[in-house]
Amino acid sequence: MIKAVRGTRDLLPPDTALWNFVEKTVREVFEAYNFQEIRTPIFEETQLFSRAVGEETDVVSKEMYTWEDRGRAESDRGHSLTLRPEATAGIVRAYIEHKMWDRGLNKLYCMGPMFRRERPQKGRYRQFYQIDAEVIGPESSGSASPVRDAEILEMLATLLDRLGIKGWTLEMNSVGSSAERVKFNEALRVALEPVKDKMCADCQRRAVTNPLRVLDCKVPEDQPIIEKLPRISQFLDEDSRKHFEQVQEILKAVGVEFEINDRLVRGLDYYTRTAFEFTHGALGAQNAILGGGRYDGLSESIGGPPAPGIGFAIGEDRLVMTLQESMGSIQQKPDVYIAALGEGMDREAARLARELRRGELIVELGDEKFRLKKSFEAADKIGARYILIVGENEAKSGVFALKNLGTGEQVSVPRAELAERIKQVSRLRDR
Ligand code: AMP
Repeated sequence: MIKAVRGTRDLLPPDTALWNFVEKTVREVFEAYNFQEIRTPIFEETQLFSRAVGEETDVVSKEMYTWEDRGRAESDRGHSLTLRPEATAGIVRAYIEHKMWDRGLNKLYCMGPMFRRERPQKGRYRQFYQIDAEVIGPESSGSASPVRDAEILEMLATLLDRLGIKGWTLEMNSVGSSAERVKFNEALRVALEPVKDKMCADCQRRAVTNPLRVLDCKVPEDQPIIEKLPRISQFLDEDSRKHFEQVQEILKAVGVEFEINDRLVRGLDYYTRTAFEFTHGALGAQNAILGGGRYDGLSESIGGPPAPGIGFAIGEDRLVMTLQESMGSIQQKPDVYIAALGEGMDREAARLARELRRGELIVELGDEKFRLKKSFEAADKIGARYILIVGENEAKSGVFALKNLGTGEQVSVPRAELAERIKQVSRLRDR
């Protein structure tokens, strides 16, 4: 039997209803903040990610799905292509390619699959879904302002509240400008030199190539060493400090709670200044629902003009998991099941179904070959609220037997009143 590839999975109904509920709410909330949708390709030139995300990150060094393009045309051959492991690089590439600075401040969002060859476990997949938003523009558009950082953090808090997710925590930190990061990295390198041999293999490598990443280490034995390392807050200059304070002040003013975590560095290289994560206790080891931060130098690193920006990626798989724990699943239930009864009745049933569906009802259609008992069983199985019986007498008289499957009550309803009648009860749906 051929099965889905390890680390990938099928999303089946009724779970997909929860995914759609999330995506619909996201669109509503983001649009209220004047974000607009962007869609970029699922694969890009490999060098986009190695330059934007950073060669030394786990994502680029070990986790990308990369292949050499084959194609017939000379221009296709030999190109190294990669399935996108994250969305920001592609969006910034699009920003540069389409000279989107002409629009001033861009507030963009997208949703879709990302690919990383990680070890699969609960809440961690090789194809997973992210909901991503970015604010990017020339500095003159206000893109570097702490107003923007606070706005997207407040938007995220609003989204999680609207989805009914309780018990989330916002942790944030300032990782400084790239100049401050260089100094901090150097201080870490010096501090790690005498102790790195006692650390895990990954940290020994990171201590040399990218000491900042050591702070990401989750190995318990390494924690006492990490605890004693220098902190980024010691290296922030006046501007970075002020920026971070202003973000905090706005958040306090709008009533969004947060915690400062000066160990938070995030897995990708491009972050500057504000970095943040929302975590949730119900998720276990993979407890980050979303993460993001500012990336003021990213555009330049892939050949664009200066374009400060800030963004985040929500792990949709994890968001849905949290919702499943709190609200179970959403079951789509048809308003009515139409049971055609007797030869020639399929046509009449189809006509009625068409009318009712135009009246925005969810309608399931039976088959005249079914006996009445089988129709009732089918209606019951899909959780239909009503069954509508369409036999020869009903078709002739234009008055139909409509049975409420919840209460057992049966009434005769003229054709013209059917939609209204069904709606009355169905609008009291359980969601
Ligand atoms: P990152 O792009 O690494 O900052 O990740 C942003 C968010 O995406 C994380 O907070 C997770 O919720 C989610 N995420 C990252 N990697 C995975 C994965 N392999 N499987 C499921 N969700 C993931």
